[in-house]
Amino acid sequence: MKTVMQSYPVNQVYIGGNFVTPHGSELFDLFNPVNGKLIGQVQLADEVDAEMAIAAAKSALPRWSATSKEVRIEALRRLQVSVAASKVDLLEAVTTEYGAPQRNSYMVDSTVTAFSNMIKTLEEFDFTRKIGRARVELAPVGVAGLITPWNSDAFFIADKLATALAAGCTVVIKPSEMSAMQTHVITKALHEAGLPKGVLNIVTGRGDVVGSAITRHPDVSKISFTGSTETGKIILSQAVETMKRVTLELGGKSPSIILDDADLEEAASGALMAGFANSGQACVAGTRILVPEKRLAEFLAIATEKMADFPVGDPRDPATAIGPMVSERQWNRVQRYIHRGVADGARIVVGGPGRPTEFPEGYFVRPTLFADVTNDMLIAREEIFGPVLSVITYRDENHAVEIANDSTYGLHAYVFSSDSERAGRIASRLEVGRVSINGAYEPLSPFGGFKQSGIGREYGAFGLEGFLEPRSIMA
Ligand code: NAD
Repeated sequence: MKTVMQSYPVNQVYIGGNFVTPHGSELFDLFNPVNGKLIGQVQLADEVDAEMAIAAAKSALPRWSATSKEVRIEALRRLQVSVAASKVDLLEAVTTEYGAPQRNSYMVDSTVTAFSNMIKTLEEFDFTRKIGRARVELAPVGVAGLITPWNSDAFFIADKLATALAAGCTVVIKPSEMSAMQTHVITKALHEAGLPKGVLNIVTGRGDVVGSAITRHPDVSKISFTGSTETGKIILSQAVETMKRVTLELGGKSPSIILDDADLEEAASGALMAGFANSGQACVAGTRILVPEKRLAEFLAIATEKMADFPVGDPRDPATAIGPMVSERQWNRVQRYIHRGVADGARIVVGGPGRPTEFPEGYFVRPTLFADVTNDMLIAREEIFGPVLSVITYRDENHAVEIANDSTYGLHAYVFSSDSERAGRIASRLEVGRVSINGAYEPLSPFGGFKQSGIGREYGAFGLEGFLEPRSIMA
């Protein structure tokens, strides 16, 4: 088959420091989301490969867990340099594989800064603490299984790996089966950094096969998972038998609260940007836009105009803000929700069902803004994972907080206001793991969800502690 796969020979896994042909023989099709054509196949690992990867990580654990902070920082530096050198290939892979617009190069930049952020954290981190008569040592939890989703596979590999290594853990990574190209590029880069053999192992396979084998294995002490809430629940139940430590980063239905004192031009831009991040395929997407009743007409007029700043198109076109959906399945899912929104009485302000006229093939959808949405409608409750946003009105501040918190999810929220103290007071009442006021961002602050958006936190010192076990020594 003459395909892009010639430059991506995705028929290898990485075990014990070597690229090897998997024992598994199942082939998984990869499609170009721009035109729906087959672009190649990935040979999937199976349980035997998972076993070998876990054994390699287990044998490397005693030496890696005994390394000093300096040795770990030095390793993270080498990984950072190596991954930075593969940025062009990585951007090409995310574009080809899931249609990520090249204009959003943050997908790739963050893959590099994952290492520098963890270096900063490690430099300031104390692995020993004193509490009264006790010396508390923070010991690596053991072999870690890291399971990632397709929507930013390389970043999640980088972030989880950097954190686990910083803690002194060795790892088995199970990337998404839909992300074989990104995984191949980043694996090559990680290999070039020359970690001790067995510290890092990567096995791409099906979730219910390789993912499940890792989640159940007695030699794996920790699972760090990013993906859907549905899969998170399966993983949690599988991990209980061996009492694994589990960090789950799951889905969201994040509110963007626009306060009545907000500059609507800025707030509309910010809310659309939060909603359309990664073509709407982001766990933190701000998909419920909460607008004061009395400013609805004004907001809709501005937002309708600003939708033009988020053109849908070929992901390689630098003007494109919203690319195609990752798969035909995801395209169908988005369509179902748009039809359901209409059936439930929501009003389409921009967009609607079907493909944009200029893109009649592939998995392109029409970025859609709904008004007249109430928070009990399905489109306001479930994660759509596409560029479909719901505008919901509120009466006053208390009502806005009540709607924002009326969700099974609690991952992220956005608040827009010209009064940052007032916005801060609202933020403190939100049942979410992170609140961004007027677009502010801090990469080292903890990231994770309340409620069904997850368990535990990632990034910075909170993330690092998720890979450590406290041991109290009293003398
Ligand atoms: P998914 O849950 O379908 O798959 C995620 C990973 O889990 C894949 O590697 C998959 O193979 C694996 N998996 C599936 N079944 C498994 C099982 N039984 N045991 C072990 N592993 C299994 O998610 P997806 O479609 O790849 O990603 C999209 C979802 O991820 C969305 O819901 C999104 O909100 C969520 N997400 C969350 C965050 C966050 O940080 N909170 C970030 C990105 C994506």
